[in-house]
Amino acid sequence: MEKYSCETHINEALDMFVAETGEFPILNKINEKNELPTKCSYCEEEATYIVSRK
Ligand SMILES: [Zn+2]
Repeated sequence: MEKYSCETHINEALDMFVAETGEFPILNKINEKNELPTKCSYCEEEATYIVSRK
């Protein structure tokens, strides 16, 4: 699974990931030049980070 998050909601995204998967997530910054804009999972802002499994 993957979650997208803006700067504001990264802590929520990490907490939710751990709660849902029981695994510690990998946090990567989205490269705006290479990836399509994606909305934050928690608000309407454009996501800055992607949280995913190893
Ligand atoms: Zn957000």
